[in-house]
Amino acid sequence: MQVLNPATEEVICEVPLATTDDAERALSAADSAFRAWARTPPIERAKFMLAIADGIRDRADELARLVTAEEGKPITEARGEVAGAADFFSYYAGLARSIEGEILASDIADEELWIRRVPHGVVAAIIPWNYPSALTARKIAPAILAGNTVVLKPHEDTPLSALAIGEVIAEVGVPPGVVNIVTGPGETVGAALASSQTTNLVTMTGSVEAGRAVLHSAAENITQVSLELGGKAPFIVLDDADLDVAVRSAVTSRYMNCGQVCISNERTYVHRSVYNEFLERYVECVSELRVGDPTSESTDVGPKVNRQELEKVTSMVDDARSAGANVLIGGRVLTDDEFARGYWYEPTVLTNVDHSMEIMHREIFGPVTPIMPFDEWNSVIELANDSTYGLSAYLFTNDFQRIMRAVNDVRFGELYINRIGPEALQAFHIGYRQSGIGGDDGKHGLDIYLQPQTIYANFSGHAMNHLMPYGEPGLEERGAVERS
Ligand code: NAD
Repeated sequence: MQVLNPATEEVICEVPLATTDDAERALSAADSAFRAWARTPPIERAKFMLAIADGIRDRADELARLVTAEEGKPITEARGEVAGAADFFSYYAGLARSIEGEILASDIADEELWIRRVPHGVVAAIIPWNYPSALTARKIAPAILAGNTVVLKPHEDTPLSALAIGEVIAEVGVPPGVVNIVTGPGETVGAALASSQTTNLVTMTGSVEAGRAVLHSAAENITQVSLELGGKAPFIVLDDADLDVAVRSAVTSRYMNCGQVCISNERTYVHRSVYNEFLERYVECVSELRVGDPTSESTDVGPKVNRQELEKVTSMVDDARSAGANVLIGGRVLTDDEFARGYWYEPTVLTNVDHSMEIMHREIFGPVTPIMPFDEWNSVIELANDSTYGLSAYLFTNDFQRIMRAVNDVRFGELYINRIGPEALQAFHIGYRQSGIGGDDGKHGLDIYLQPQTIYANFSGHAMNHLMPYGEPGLEERGAVERS
């Protein structure tokens, strides 16, 4: 498979186009490595992970350049991403002594009931292109700390960051088979990983469509699935908000990584009393964004990742325009001079949009903000919640009552109040509705990679009375009568 630089369309290099047989071989390697890795104490696994974090930090500059080359995000952002990738390994290494179970009293003398938390076995991890190094780490770190082995499939457009992190993992001496990386298409290699009998857990980040396909594939063997899918985050600005903070936050949340972030500001709602002023400042801020060569230190917005993505954004803006939207700024594919090659779209702001338009419902995943005014709290909350997506939402206000209403009324997995992302390592990245099932990060993210195992530990030396397997009949009822 050729890997293209989205800023220049040059071929960076070629990587193997894996087959479904390769996927099976990788799974089988992971399966063979599992028992020994699961027996390795977590603190020993954590030592490898700290070494991986150090290895990533040592190669941070090279890794950041790789992210920029294959994905197109500005180098300044790529450095942050790579630092985040290292942090996933060191953060999860820090949880090595936090894997706990429970002990329950038994109904039987000389017996204990243990609920242990054990690794699943082989984890298939499937990731998208928008954070190729951070998402590699976000999947591998908790999976291997928990004692699983992993087969990771990066997106076909951006396999290089994962392969480079794979090199670091091999260099620090992680035993062969614990982490495997296969490069290939989702429809073949991804589906093979999700449907294989060897896979015990599938964790996938990507689009709703591919998530649905992964669920279908995993249904083959009733394999557990965790999905982090798309978003359509509402960004709500109330009349008392600090407009300067709100504008800068809304712009950053929309245009970073060229709008290709699952928690991006996808639709902006501004209270009518401050709408005009917000809009004026917003457009001014967007007009100052520097679009161009992502390797330059002064670039704010790079190219879209590939031609299909560019075409999708173009057609969504064209459709919105036909439906009556005004293009206040942008609205064009860039093709002049330095943009002659690559997938460039102008930072765009749309007004005169309403809830009936597709642009307010479908994920844009590009540098385009639809903005609309609202009059009432209830109506904006209804608009915000009326989405098939339920990942992130934003609220900008200093009104305590409104904040608490939002905490209760906004039906999204994450609510950011007076701030934007990125997500925190120790929090829990979780989407409602079609934005996913399961989640990533923090101790709840680690839980996804562990499964309960119940042990009945009897040391009485007596056979059980199998006529009364659930204890003395009537005990519960008698207790109830005595209590009453
Ligand atoms: P995508 O769904 O096209 O691809 C994601 C991965 O799934 C790729 O590795 C792809 O090869 C694989 N895949 C595709 N079809 C498959 C199939 N039938 N079976 C198995 N695997 C298959 O997504 P994308 O375009 O790479 O990424 C953009 C999407 O990812 C957006 O919707 C974005 O919101 C979402 N995303 C979500 C999060 C999150 O944490 N919720 C984070 C980043 C991106």
